[in-house]
Amino acid sequence: AAKGHGKAGYVRYVPGMEEPILAHIQLGGELRRGLDEGEFRVVYQPVIALADGKIIGVEALVRWDHPVRGPVSPAEFIPVAERTGLIVELGRFVLRETCRQMAAWLAEFGPDALQKPGVNVSARQLHDPDFVGDVLAALADSGLPTDRLVLELTESAVLRGSQVSRTLHELDRLGVALALDDFGTGESSLSLLRSFPASIVKLDKSFVDGIEIEDGEAGGRDARQAVARAVIQLANALGLDTVAEGIENEAQAEQLRLLGYTLGQGYHLARPMPAEEFTRLLAAQRRAVTA
Ligand code: C2E
Ligand code: MG
Ligand code: MG
Ligand code: MG
Repeated sequence: AAKGHGKAGYVRYVPGMEEPILAHIQLGGELRRGLDEGEFRVVYQPVIALADGKIIGVEALVRWDHPVRGPVSPAEFIPVAERTGLIVELGRFVLRETCRQMAAWLAEFGPDALQKPGVNVSARQLHDPDFVGDVLAALADSGLPTDRLVLELTESAVLRGSQVSRTLHELDRLGVALALDDFGTGESSLSLLRSFPASIVKLDKSFVDGIEIEDGEAGGRDARQAVARAVIQLANALGLDTVAEGIENEAQAEQLRLLGYTLGQGYHLARPMPAEEFTRLLAAQRRAVTA
């Protein structure tokens, strides 16, 4: 039963709501413990050239191996980490780990093996007064050059006032690249591109889903293709790079190629994987080039 969290020591009972509220409260405490116990790790999803399947870049994605629950999805724990503020510490961990790993890959495979790695950043982190300092410290401690990092931000995270805008312009000035993640799902995607110092847009998976299926419905393939086409035309006009997200089959990859997309991410191309597995792929790619 609900107890111990409301004003009078009770959570008001709402039919059907009891479980999620308790689950949330428990997850918050578990996150704190999980951070202290080192249960989080970073996996890496390749960004692939659609022309030849070559690995061009990488996105860092956090994972939580809970000792009892097993793997917990970021979709479940990132919102809780944001509300509790723990995302600041968790984000710092992901940033430091990714910079360290990227510096190791550059040392082993050379400067042309990979472009800048993408690290996801939440709105809450952008509001943290130490954020820019944390980014610079992660770079300095790893030896990764400032212009070797991309921060991925969603439109909603960026749309939050002048403090955030100052932070983003400062990072831009320091050479850190910014990507607009899940692009096209926000409320003001187009106007945002003018004011925000992004150099990359990531076309949201929702425009890739079904892009290959003939259906003729309003909001169906034709509409998604129209958005995908508008995004790449705009990006080209503004000199931005594009990455299409969530490619799950070859027909989608082909359709995106036809529209002019050169870079993609998705289970069809490569899944997120541990660093050691990514290292093996880079080694195989180097052998293929020198063979
Ligand atoms: P995102 O940044 O848009 O990352 C892409 C998500 O799509 C990842 O989910 C990835 O595993 C998944 N994905 C990639 N290809 C495919 C595909 O072909 N099909 C499908 N169905 N999914 C695909 P993941 O790792 O579960 O992360 C979900 C979201 O959680 C991320 O979306 C990002 O917003 C957030 N996130 C993940 N790691 C971090 C982090 O370190 N910090 C912050 N602040 N947010 C993170
Ligand atoms: Mg992302
Ligand atoms: Mg995304
Ligand atoms: Mg997303």
